[in-house]
Amino acid sequence: MISEEIIQRIIDENDIVDVITESGVRLKRSGRNYFGLCPFHHENSPSFSVSPEKQIFKCFGCGEAGNVIGYVMKNKNMSYYDTLKYLAERVNIQVEENKAEIENKKRIQRFYDINVDAARYFFSNLMKNKEALSYFTGRGIELGTIKSFGLGYALDSWGELLKYLKSKKYTDKEILSLGLAIEGKNNRIYDRFRNRVIFPVFDYKGNVIGFGGRVLDDSKPKYLNSPESRIFEKRKNLYGLNFAIKKGLKDYVIIVEGYMDAISLHQFGVTNVVATLGTALTTEQAKLLKRYVNKVIIAYDADFAGQSATMRGLKILKEAGFLVYVLRIPEGKDPDEYIRNNGKLAFVKLVEAAESLTEYRISSLEGNFNIDKQEEKIAFINEAANVLKESDPIERDIYVKKLAEKTYISEQAIYDKIAEKGINANLEQQEYNFGDNGQNLYLEKGYIKAERALLKILLQKEEYTKFIVDNISVEEMILDSHKFLYNLILGCMDVSFEEKVKSVQLKCTDNDSFKELTHILLEEINYEEVEVEKLIEDYILSIKKNNLEIKKRELVKKIKQCEAAGDIQETIVYVKELEEIQRNLKSFTNA
Ligand SMILES: [Zn+2]
Repeated sequence: MISEEIIQRIIDENDIVDVITESGVRLKRSGRNYFGLCPFHHENSPSFSVSPEKQIFKCFGCGEAGNVIGYVMKNKNMSYYDTLKYLAERVNIQVEENKAEIENKKRIQRFYDINVDAARYFFSNLMKNKEALSYFTGRGIELGTIKSFGLGYALDSWGELLKYLKSKKYTDKEILSLGLAIEGKNNRIYDRFRNRVIFPVFDYKGNVIGFGGRVLDDSKPKYLNSPESRIFEKRKNLYGLNFAIKKGLKDYVIIVEGYMDAISLHQFGVTNVVATLGTALTTEQAKLLKRYVNKVIIAYDADFAGQSATMRGLKILKEAGFLVYVLRIPEGKDPDEYIRNNGKLAFVKLVEAAESLTEYRISSLEGNFNIDKQEEKIAFINEAANVLKESDPIERDIYVKKLAEKTYISEQAIYDKIAEKGINANLEQQEYNFGDNGQNLYLEKGYIKAERALLKILLQKEEYTKFIVDNISVEEMILDSHKFLYNLILGCMDVSFEEKVKSVQLKCTDNDSFKELTHILLEEINYEEVEVEKLIEDYILSIKKNNLEIKKRELVKKIKQCEAAGDIQETIVYVKELEEIQRNLKSFTNA
């Protein structure tokens, strides 16, 4: 734990303009603020602003906002605690760590050391073993690539690695907890990786966190990976990201399936590549990637791409706000094979021809149906409608036109089919719109503005606290970060506005709270024009109405499911609830 006093000093002494400039954003002064290209979304003209007075930043393009801590957390993808330590160090503030923290850090560092020693050992084995080395060289991997990826070989032995690591004074317990060795019957401990070529797995900072081992022949299992450990969490990591970052990421990253795909592409000079190692993408991985790029191109082999788990992974990427493209590799080859046979230029051509996710999903569907047959045509449109209900409206328009031309079914009928499926109205915080200069400008949803304004009033006009609390509870707030801030603000009454803001800021530890607090501070309320109570009522109404809309959407969905399942009684219950909500909504509108 770092005391609030120290946190305040860290905020005070790290000037946000300096910190942002150091991170590589070129800021230009214009009036009271600085402007530059946003590091969090792709843009060509500056909409990222920094206020030296308020010590906050805000992007008018993507809505990202925060103070200096929030900036570093997001920009460097660091935890709250690591960010505080980083900023403290930057201005020479001593952050005393307690004993447990120091011990923990030492333990983790030793884990990394063990893995580095193991990796070196595997590498030296590889250099001495012709058969293993030929696994790589036979696949066109050069010595320089082997070195930079730290590839290796685990001897065909039950205890050589163990012996080596113990000679380095590591304990059985440490080696076991990293999964480099396994404890068998009679407490016998033996090497996990035997007679396999080895791929060290790095985290995005370049620490060795685990290993993957592949057999040299066709025996099973083909791949064996380190188990999850204190330092190896598969769902939070992407293979090759450290190398991609080092080489400088362009505006997109290519996601491949396996170690060899990533390594091979690197060797051919396609370096913005990461591998998922044969598992479906997770939200944590999407978040990690989002720090660096806004566009991803999936280059899986056809079998893997077709799986529903893969599709789920792609949806996760889309929901995380990526532009998702899918690259088709001809003749069912994998990227490694393709680039070796056809060269870099041919691969780059494939990248350029990558299809959007919607396009890909629809054209994949098409292969399953013979649309010359009436029945199959209907089934195809039905499935395509499922895909299109999830796409954005502009994309939807384009594909409805295409489908209509292809199937001779009218556009209207296809739209009806999509509407029948229910267009996914997910709770996005913001909608994108094309502004006059062709740039994406984000529009806040009304209820988000209402919640921010309400919290601003709570900060500025303490005398209305009771009125607000009596009319809207914490649970009724829609954004989680607003619930959190609402509670915090209620916890610090009887002090000045500035004091309140400071004390709330010191208790924020995640990006969303920093972001929303900043938006709340920037929210301007004109108290002169209307009665404050009326203003508050309007905001609350807008929030409550939205809560009802959410409930309504959920109910409509449930009713459809029950109807489909033939569950009449349940349906009636839900319909009654729906009627009640609709009455409520109506009364709001009439009020
Ligand atoms: Zn931005």
